[in-house]
Amino acid sequence: MHKDNQPLIFEITKAGRVGYSLTELDVPEVDLSSLMPDGFIRKEDAELPEVSELDIMRHYTALSNRNHGVDNGFYPLGSCTMKYNPKINESVARFPGFANIHPLQDESTVQGALEMIYDLQEHLNEITGMDETTLQPAAGAHGEWTALMMIRAFHEANGDFNRTKVLVPDSAHGTNPASATVAGFDTVTVKSNESGLVDIEDLKSKVGPDTAALMLTNPNTLGLFEEDILEMATIVHGVGGKLYYDGANLNAVMSKARPGDMGFDAVHLNLHKTFTGPHGGGGPGSGPVGVKKDLIPFLPKPVLVKKEDIYTFEYDRPQSIGRVKPFYGNFGIYLRAYTYIRTMGPDGLKAVTEYAVLNANYMMRKLEPYFDLPYTQHCKHEFVLSGRRQKKLGVRTLDMAKRLLDFGYHPPTIYFPLNVEEGMMIEPTETESKETLDSFIDAMIQIAKEVEENPEVVQNAPHTTVINRLDETKAARQPVLRYIKK
Ligand SMILES: *Cc1c(COP(=O)(O)O)cnc(C)c1O
Repeated sequence: MHKDNQPLIFEITKAGRVGYSLTELDVPEVDLSSLMPDGFIRKEDAELPEVSELDIMRHYTALSNRNHGVDNGFYPLGSCTMKYNPKINESVARFPGFANIHPLQDESTVQGALEMIYDLQEHLNEITGMDETTLQPAAGAHGEWTALMMIRAFHEANGDFNRTKVLVPDSAHGTNPASATVAGFDTVTVKSNESGLVDIEDLKSKVGPDTAALMLTNPNTLGLFEEDILEMATIVHGVGGKLYYDGANLNAVMSKARPGDMGFDAVHLNLHKTFTGPHGGGGPGSGPVGVKKDLIPFLPKPVLVKKEDIYTFEYDRPQSIGRVKPFYGNFGIYLRAYTYIRTMGPDGLKAVTEYAVLNANYMMRKLEPYFDLPYTQHCKHEFVLSGRRQKKLGVRTLDMAKRLLDFGYHPPTIYFPLNVEEGMMIEPTETESKETLDSFIDAMIQIAKEVEENPEVVQNAPHTTVINRLDETKAARQPVLRYIKK
């Protein structure tokens, strides 16, 4: 047992100890059996931990200190954009006028909140180059699915029922083929060429009258810009297909290039990545979808519209794919994204992109001598190293990721994208200082040296964490999620 090992809350229980104090009951006590059928009434007390307020504070504070988050350390998890979440966003999201409203309130009483939503949609239209945006989807993958359902509805409205295929490059984020499948399409994989970009000849050979859409991340998950995008758009549009842009990590191009100008018909953004919403713990996230004119009739309803200075939700949208989220989506995340966009301004958002790209290239070139770099051109917001040189010495990328924990860093995304052997996908983000970048670079260089001089220290890492190597397969397949009294 590690010195820092915390007992479970049930293990520090002491009969009769309480962590609350209630005032005297000042209403008559009611006999439950007069209100509820017998079978619903609990006969014995629930087995709950009995602890003092101080016990409970210390217990959960100690557990929370074991978490690694953006607020306590560098988090270069590729494709996840773990940038800093400015605290001003939190203050604004807690303004009582926003925090205390209810989604069933009459529209006339929440005009300010609706104006904010409307304004955010307008800003996102401007940023993506799209004609309209829905904020309903709750996450990136949900946005992908929403857009694909709209694309399907568009084709079907044209009497086009045979477009069953969605093309997805082999470097795509895993949610892309998953969303296509859930939306009822067959996924066709498009190969990458030796530069890590979509192979145009392969694309040409796979498009046809059965193509519903091409899903593309640009820059792709290797951090490389698909420079043939205009040609790809011509090819896909030429056969009547639509182009879908995965804009989860838009800080690669934001305010520099717009999906709408590259020929895309639909795009999703992750407000919980690019626009500084916090992520983790399963949400809440937000995955708005922007579309071009053709797809507007199919937007999820209700659609927020402005009529003579009054904001109102329009339900009469006969071609809509319907509602995809209860109420109006994750409003608290809109506020954070809106605050971010308004505090940064157009020049600030441009600087975000410049620093995201600069930081990634700086780190990539500093690490290039120590690790294999399969794609050597300049990157955008992230880059992918290969651990194949270290693998020849008996050390896997997983081992190096575990070793980084000893230096206090969250490891990069590993073994992804699939087209890189022993991949390490690093996204430093723009919010980190040069000092932080340099310290991480030093740690990576030290690990590369350890692999040559003292591989066991890396193979057996981590050494400084509360527990060492986990059986990750067992943790995923046979998780024990409840307290079992011994
Ligand atoms: C994160 C991400 C997604 C999925 O977003 P979720 O909010 O996790 O569903 C999709 N595509 C890319 C490129 C991403 O980085």
